[in-house]
Amino acid sequence: TRIYFQAGPTTLPKEVMQQAKEEWDDFQGTGLNIMEHSHRGKDYEDIHEQAKNRMRSLLDIPDTHDVLFLQGGASLQFAMIPMNLIPDGKTAKYILTGSWSEKAYQEAQRIGSSEAVISGKDSAYRTLPVMDYVPSENDAYLHITSNNTIYGTQWPDLNAFSHPTLIADMSSDIMSRPFSVDKYGLIYAGAQKNLGPSGVTAVIIRKDLLQESNAVPSILSYSVHAKNKSLYNTPPVYSIYLLNLVLDWVERSGGVNEMEVRNQKKAKVIYDAIDQSHDFYNGYATPDSRSNMNVTFTLGSKELEQQFIKESEENGIYGLKGHRSVGGFRASIYNAVPQESCDSLATFMVQFQEKYGK
Ligand code: PLP
Repeated sequence: TRIYFQAGPTTLPKEVMQQAKEEWDDFQGTGLNIMEHSHRGKDYEDIHEQAKNRMRSLLDIPDTHDVLFLQGGASLQFAMIPMNLIPDGKTAKYILTGSWSEKAYQEAQRIGSSEAVISGKDSAYRTLPVMDYVPSENDAYLHITSNNTIYGTQWPDLNAFSHPTLIADMSSDIMSRPFSVDKYGLIYAGAQKNLGPSGVTAVIIRKDLLQESNAVPSILSYSVHAKNKSLYNTPPVYSIYLLNLVLDWVERSGGVNEMEVRNQKKAKVIYDAIDQSHDFYNGYATPDSRSNMNVTFTLGSKELEQQFIKESEENGIYGLKGHRSVGGFRASIYNAVPQESCDSLATFMVQFQEKYGK
């Protein structure tokens, strides 16, 4: 079996791939791939509804919130959020914890009044900033990024934030742990880490935020998508089909509570290898800010790092190269990455240190 820590575009459970393969040219006895079915027909509509209902039950989404399946990735949400949710006279507030929150903020700056109120940039995004922001009357919303995919930091408690209109980019950790959806006005996630393949973006939006506006094109309007049950235009049928299979797998595996237990255990073996290495490996994120989804670390020299990649691949371990802005290594251990892969990496790290460490 493959041992694979790539940050994206997706990591799918083996069982999901098996089922998709079995149904490839004959979806439930219809003789067609699900992609070939009308998106207005019963076969696809059932999948569409199942996927939504599974999102609802797994995340315990209250009736106050709608679930939408959109396209354009999380990056389109960077734009749709300010286009739809900054009323005249109000300012959107952003907390900067990495490159993705910077991008979200930059997009808001192009569109409306916006301000970065807290930033972790001074620590080169190794540490999450102190969250002492006090909401103001004038706020359109407060935007956070729950897991910083590139730097490997993650807010430890998603229920700790308090704002009347809290918005979170959860692209790289949704479905990895429980949290209270009702604390949030809007949550969005490109599907391609924990939910399925790229091509679909999940949006959970509180219904009072679904306001019509002539200033927003239909395709970019949350209220248009909500009214049309995410079938305003042709949806990414195959991506939603796979997302539904992934959610079915999460359900059968024990839900988000079980995902959290597994993810903590998976991350721990790798962080232990770092912490017990006496600075042979250096964790990028400070311990209090560490992510259970993306484990980032470096080695003492470029030569050693090249050797590490070479030998890890010789040992059948792939996808460890860090993002270019951080360097070093990143082990992305999304829901679908099994414990055994993390154990193999930790064992390899110890062996590599025995060989090259002093
Ligand atoms: N936000 C976060 C936290 C991400 O990790 C990513 C991609 O890795 C994005 C946004 C961008 O997502 P997309 O490629 O779907 O636009």
